[in-house]
Amino acid sequence: MSRPEITTPESLADESVVELSLRPQRLAEFIGQAKVKDALRIYLDAALARREPLDHTLLFGPPGLGKTTLAELIARELGVNLHTTSGPALEKPGDLVGTLTNLRTGDILFIDEIHRLRPVIDEFLYPAMEDAKIDIRLSEGPKAQTITMPIERFTLIGATTRLGMLTAPLRARFGIELRLNYYEAAEVEEIIHRTSTVLGSSIDAEGAQELARRARGTPRVANRLLRRVRDFAEVKAGGHITKAVAREALAMLDVDEFGLDEMDTRLLRAIIEKFEGGPVGVGTIAAAVGEEADTLEEVYEPFLVQHGFLQRTPRGRMATAQAYRHLGYPPPSAASGAQPELF
Ligand code: ADP
Repeated sequence: MSRPEITTPESLADESVVELSLRPQRLAEFIGQAKVKDALRIYLDAALARREPLDHTLLFGPPGLGKTTLAELIARELGVNLHTTSGPALEKPGDLVGTLTNLRTGDILFIDEIHRLRPVIDEFLYPAMEDAKIDIRLSEGPKAQTITMPIERFTLIGATTRLGMLTAPLRARFGIELRLNYYEAAEVEEIIHRTSTVLGSSIDAEGAQELARRARGTPRVANRLLRRVRDFAEVKAGGHITKAVAREALAMLDVDEFGLDEMDTRLLRAIIEKFEGGPVGVGTIAAAVGEEADTLEEVYEPFLVQHGFLQRTPRGRMATAQAYRHLGYPPPSAASGAQPELF
């Protein structure tokens, strides 16, 4: 049985401090995501040349791919202040009044998990984003008086794993939309080498390859694997991570060979055990695993499809022969004709 918490792309408790020290400081240090980086460099240079705030920017992609890192980089590249909050942390518009009135021209307000903002806060943000003003209610109730207050023109950076859950009016107010994709293995290796240098540990090329393969294309997972394997290497192997040391450590940690996390495994098992391998609709799978269909579609499926565990067909999702084998089920007989062999 694998230890899926190690490959979970979400940040674990107490991990944020370590992550802070591992974050690249400049855009040039940010590895991979060439399309996003190229586009962003142009937007940043244009904003700097015009001496105007950057357009409101929406960062979209699965957890652990670098959205928070990019928000911090953008602030640093522009030389402006960054104020960070998150959708679930904001209960009422009042929670944002102090922040918004304190922002100077061009400063950045970063809202993580922006799809989880309450509708009243969405609406409170519209005039702030569009016209640099906020409406403050002076009392409660239907006849409450409101006053309109000007604020300075700031940049809102929103991060979301769930583009589909953003309301259309909010999404329309972002001038820039950047989508982060899972990293290629070579990029993950580069990230592992960089993190290893930052941590002052030592890993060879094959050791990094071995970790990268199981990192789910996700820098957060790669960094976490490296930290755990480094502990093992320090105690058992004189501190140097080679392929053999990495393999031994990962086996001891029960890390899934392909970096599948708990939800990946649950989803595939559900398709195989409850729906005979599919095809089955995403809504039905969602009900079976207790997760929302949007999340499965936006966060989990892209990885599983990219790595040959899942097929999306017009009739629904199907587990591939590779998924059967990996999870220890006998692959369905070729006679059924239902299971495409991908590898
Ligand atoms: P998100 O906000 O998308 O969940 P984070 O920005 O918190 O992801 O990134 C998670 C971890 O991965 C951070 O510790 C960061 O240092 C590292 N990381 C993310 N992207 C990169 C990258 N392109 N290059 C190097 N490290 C990265």
